Amino acid sequence: MQQVRNNYIDGAWRPAEHCSESYNPSDTSELIGRYAIAGTADVRDAVEAARKAFADWKETSPQQRFDILDRAADKIAGRTQDLATLLSREEGKTLPEAAAEVTKAAHTFKYFAGEAVRLAGSSLRSVRKAVDVDVRREAVGVVGLITPWNFPFSIPAWKSAPALAYGNCVILKPSELTNAIAWELASILHDAGIPRGVFQMLMGGGDVGAALVSNRDVDAVSFTGSGAVGAMIAAQVVGRGAKLQLELGGKNPLVVADDADLDKAVDAAVRGAFYSTGQRCTASSRIIVDATVHDGFVERLVERTARLRVGHALDSASDIGPLVSAAQLQRVSRYAEAAPSDGARHAFGGRVLAAPANGYYFEPAIFLDGTMHQNINREEVFGPIVSVFKASDFEDAVRLANATEFGLSAGIFTSSHAKARAFIRASNSGMVMVNLPTVGSDYHVPFGGRGASAYGPKEMGLGAIEFFTQTKTAYIAD
Ligand code: NAD
Repeated sequence: MQQVRNNYIDGAWRPAEHCSESYNPSDTSELIGRYAIAGTADVRDAVEAARKAFADWKETSPQQRFDILDRAADKIAGRTQDLATLLSREEGKTLPEAAAEVTKAAHTFKYFAGEAVRLAGSSLRSVRKAVDVDVRREAVGVVGLITPWNFPFSIPAWKSAPALAYGNCVILKPSELTNAIAWELASILHDAGIPRGVFQMLMGGGDVGAALVSNRDVDAVSFTGSGAVGAMIAAQVVGRGAKLQLELGGKNPLVVADDADLDKAVDAAVRGAFYSTGQRCTASSRIIVDATVHDGFVERLVERTARLRVGHALDSASDIGPLVSAAQLQRVSRYAEAAPSDGARHAFGGRVLAAPANGYYFEPAIFLDGTMHQNINREEVFGPIVSVFKASDFEDAVRLANATEFGLSAGIFTSSHAKARAFIRASNSGMVMVNLPTVGSDYHVPFGGRGASAYGPKEMGLGAIEFFTQTKTAYIAD
């Protein structure tokens, strides 16, 4: 019997009345672990501990915060292989993808260790004589971080690292599907010397998240997940005047212009749409191809997709692992089944696969004749299904790219500098990629979307300073 992993509250591992189990989506006969589920009292105690710790933590020296975050980064980097293996076993992404995620988390902690020292305000002259003005940046207070399962290590890292660097106290509520890897993050921060109450981690489902965001002592909430849950959280948090940051879904377009390098465009489409089993908020789900190159592009896309190997996440021969859960497999296959009745022409894939083991395997799918009336193009599928649109010219391609309420990431393949610049200017997305897949981002620049894809300041880079600090303007005279 595996030992139960407990919640982390006020510097200690606390058992709970109830626990849950998780199984490997590549092979559901393998138990990953058993986890304590936080109760209402745990949520209350975690918030109280954070509130109590905040008074000291916001006054710690930048050097002390640097040291803790830097140590956490080293511990993560030193355990890349074992953390990546656990992540693969729990979430189902392939080992190279999991290792890249762990490395990004280590880099994020390193970067924000430095940011703790670099945090700057500004000093100005007042419009009045002999008065100076200081605009300072201070911590916000107690922050609740609610995260999804698809980047179960890097998203908790990229929310926690800046929150702690700027002097906030944290309560992390990870996805109930990925407790194992979140537990490791809490354990690493504990070992790195995080003071009591400064960081807590509560496991459980939506009810634990709901209890956290409705607690009036939580000053700010940063959420990454679905639009439906984001809307429920917004109703709670905005009403009571707390700060809110939402990173939600996408319906990301990749435009292939008439002058694109087709081999590179196909490679980016396959990576963006199907790798990580399509379970990325920035995944390319709508490929918009100029009519003059459409048929050649589709031929290569189908040929390349047919060569992808779907398999066990830990098998080095696998390009794509399973979907994360039975519910996700059911949801994605329903979209594939319904697409033809919506006018989408089936070109490849879309079957539930029985091999290589008892897991949630799904064959990547390509549909043609895309229109914005089809459900697979209006709603976020969050799986390896792509829809190809035929654009009559460049203007039509830009129009189609923007014809969605979402606005997370958008890409274009073109050899024309003018088209690339025009696309960057016209795009309604928060991130634009030129001759690159729609997925993939750096940790030192803002990450996030527009429209239905986001709310509040962006994450990472300058966005993180905006969200995890508040300004105070001091007027000073002799
Ligand atoms: P989800 O919305 O179902 O769950 C996200 C988190 O919210 C989980 O921890 C869950 O337990 C919690 N939760 C559920 N109900 C809650 C409630 N009522 N109150 C508070 N918390 C609650 O999302 P998911 O299925 O875990 O993740 C997939 C979604 O995340 C997709 O829509 C994807 O696009 C999005 N995502 C967005 C980004 C981004 O940066 N824009 C990145 C990754 C994933």
